[in-house]
Amino acid sequence: MKTIGLIGGMSWESSAEYYRMINEETKRRRGGLHSAKCILFSVDFAEMEILQAKGKWEEAGQRLGEAALALEKAGADFIVICTNTMHKVVSQIEAYIKIPVLHIADATAAQIKTRGLRKVGLLGTSYTMEQDFYKSRIIDFGIDIVIPNETEREMIHRIIYEELCLGKITQESKEVYKQVIDTLRMNGAEGIILGCTEIGLLVQEEDSSVPLFNTTSIHTVAAVNKALS
Ligand code: GLU
Repeated sequence: MKTIGLIGGMSWESSAEYYRMINEETKRRRGGLHSAKCILFSVDFAEMEILQAKGKWEEAGQRLGEAALALEKAGADFIVICTNTMHKVVSQIEAYIKIPVLHIADATAAQIKTRGLRKVGLLGTSYTMEQDFYKSRIIDFGIDIVIPNETEREMIHRIIYEELCLGKITQESKEVYKQVIDTLRMNGAEGIILGCTEIGLLVQEEDSSVPLFNTTSIHTVAAVNKALS
């Protein structure tokens, strides 16, 4: 079994899910007392959020690159970045290490392909929904992306940072997400990427009439596949 190097803390609410899901999948696959070999480097999200908001991506990339290097030195065989947004700096992180990074968007696009969908909605932080670094990776797999309108994007983003990353789950916000998902469906989305690792804490399959692609569960299963390969 390979050792998984996790860069987490963004937020720790979803990193806890990564740890749980990776171990549950390992147990499901290998049985008995088996659990995953993994190392977690958890950053202080308050510091990272300031860098994001100020557009200091270079500095954020340096910090995460150093975290990846520490994981490599500690014995990790590959890296899992436990956030969609910070894949914006994935090439900077890769430059610090010799081991591979298991990209969250590639794992997600592969799942969408398996289901045979051609157009999906994308929910995530503003960075993920509006910038190219994530969408282009999905589009490379021949999948079209539709995103919410500006007002909806602001609500989706605000709920992530002011609620989900603080462990606050409310019915009101769930209704907001359900409404946006429905609008994306009416705009042609055949499925929805939950492109932020905390969204699965708020929205589940029964909240949508089209399939949901929860990047946290997809990424963790891909990590276990790689660890056991
Ligand atoms: N965990 C989130 C994501 O998947 C948002 C927090 C962050 O900015 O890293 O994008």
